[in-house]
Amino acid sequence: MRGLSIKLKLPLLIGALVVAVTGVYAVAAYRAMARAAMTVATGRLTTVTDQLAQALHTSRNSLVAHLDSIAQRPEIARYLARPGAGSTAALAALAPPLERAQSVAGVALWSADHHRLLSQGEAPRRGLTVDSTLLLAAAKSDSAVIGPFHLAGDSIAYPVVARVGTSARPLGYVVEWRWVVGTARSREQTNQLVGTNAHIYLGNTGGDIWSDLTRPVPGPPVDVTHATGLLRYDRAGVGPTYAVARHIDGSPWLVLVEYPVQAVLAPARIALSRLVLIGVIILVLGLAATWALSRTLTRPLAGLTHAAETVAAGDYAPLVGIDPDPRGDELGRLAAAFDTMVQRVAEAQQRLEDRVRARTAELQERNEELEAFAYSISHDLRAPLRAMGGFSQALLEDYGDKLDQTGKQYAERVVAGANTMDQLIRDLLSYSRITRSELRLTPLDLHRPMQSATEQVANDVAARHARVVVDEPLPPVVGHETTLAQVLANLLANAIKFVPAERTPDVHVRAELRDGRVRVWVEDNGIGIAPEHHERIFRVFERLNPAEDFPGTGIGLAIVRKGVERMGGRVGVESAPGGGSRFWIDLSQAEAVDERHSHSAG
Ligand code: ADP
Repeated sequence: MRGLSIKLKLPLLIGALVVAVTGVYAVAAYRAMARAAMTVATGRLTTVTDQLAQALHTSRNSLVAHLDSIAQRPEIARYLARPGAGSTAALAALAPPLERAQSVAGVALWSADHHRLLSQGEAPRRGLTVDSTLLLAAAKSDSAVIGPFHLAGDSIAYPVVARVGTSARPLGYVVEWRWVVGTARSREQTNQLVGTNAHIYLGNTGGDIWSDLTRPVPGPPVDVTHATGLLRYDRAGVGPTYAVARHIDGSPWLVLVEYPVQAVLAPARIALSRLVLIGVIILVLGLAATWALSRTLTRPLAGLTHAAETVAAGDYAPLVGIDPDPRGDELGRLAAAFDTMVQRVAEAQQRLEDRVRARTAELQERNEELEAFAYSISHDLRAPLRAMGGFSQALLEDYGDKLDQTGKQYAERVVAGANTMDQLIRDLLSYSRITRSELRLTPLDLHRPMQSATEQVANDVAARHARVVVDEPLPPVVGHETTLAQVLANLLANAIKFVPAERTPDVHVRAELRDGRVRVWVEDNGIGIAPEHHERIFRVFERLNPAEDFPGTGIGLAIVRKGVERMGGRVGVESAPGGGSRFWIDLSQAEAVDERHSHSAG
């Protein structure tokens, strides 16, 4: 997240916010709705079950009343008093009215001692026979009794039994078998009250037979006989279900109304999916809006960043706010302030550069004046010095016999001092020359300045019987031949000079290529130099050893450094006391040597 651009960060943040808010809101709303739906549905379920039980009780009463009225018909009593005669009249009295014939499976007359005397309809054929306990119950009851449901193939029937005669002396019984037929009205009523997914079941209190008002069905997975409140169980093929069961008074029946939990929650689910849809729409719109907003923010920021980076890299040209229609907000002001700042910095930079240029020019001028002055002074000093040396020499030669020993020594000292001073002035002059002269750099063969340098130190080589080995061939470099010859000669002279008198100087010159540059090494077996002096010795007049041991002026290495730097190179030394020294100079490597230059150089 930290490295992410603001352009992405902002929409991501807003998106996450929208998702979180709509998610929490949707879940909370769904829960509340589900709870409300559940309360409403279970309330209705109880009410409708009670109403159904009430309605079934009413229809049970009308059935009982109907059968009681049949049982009281005189034709029936007559027949039962004397079975065998009047059966036609009895049968006619038993026959159900036409509009009820559909729901009647059969009617029969039973004797007081539980024998079927007369029968009409299909009930006996369908195996429907009445239980004698029911006949006994009817014998004691003042009105007809209703029996439990019986299976007849895939239909269900129930008996209604009415006694004929008095309870003290029953003549017999009228048994009517009725089919269980769902009435369209009860279903419609339930649907209106609970919902289209409600299911009504009727069953025996014993739980052995259940019907959905048309055919036998499996009963609920729990015992509902004594349940009074809301039931919840899994119905095979439906899933979690709410149910309410009620006993129907005056019958061995139960009415059970089931309502799937799924259906209860359906409205809440629909609302939830709408909420999610609305959430997605808000998310998309929010993302688009924040994307657009963050673009309007980050585009000028990106411009500003780019401009700042360019300025940081040293280019003061780019300005961000040069806009015909500048933004009035904070970003617009930031851009304007940035531009003003850049302009100020650029102006200040320009002023500083101008001042530095002027000062440098002034300094250079002064420097040149000083150098010219030093040069002319050095030059002018040599004439009286030569006179001093010459006249002291003449004094020794012409008047030597007139001077005593001390006088002669004094005159010799004057000559030596004059010579040393002359050498010093000559060194200073050549340092000055190398500083001031115009150097035209050309590609040249290192071999030639090397040869010239060896010739310059030929006397020292001979005096010390030194051994100088040069690893040929040496690569071509870019430089100035005479200067290079002097640089190499100074290095060679030192390499021979700073070797203890008892040791034969052994000098090794070699070159190597380093990243397109040539490094020339001058290595000796001399006294070496302590690391803390490696920088110092390249300055003018810096000497590490007393003149009695190793004579010199302290200008040689200063000339080396100045000469190499003027040829665009660098110089250095690797050394430790007693371990010899390895001086090096770095110069640009030349592609190829232009012969004209290398011959005409100098
Ligand atoms: P000079 O040789 O006239 O003394 P230089 O400028 O050439 O002056 O050298 C400065 C000092 O650096 C020398 O006095 C000496 O102490 C030290 N030096 C230069 N070259 C070598 C070397 N090859 N080995 C040891 N010391 C050296």
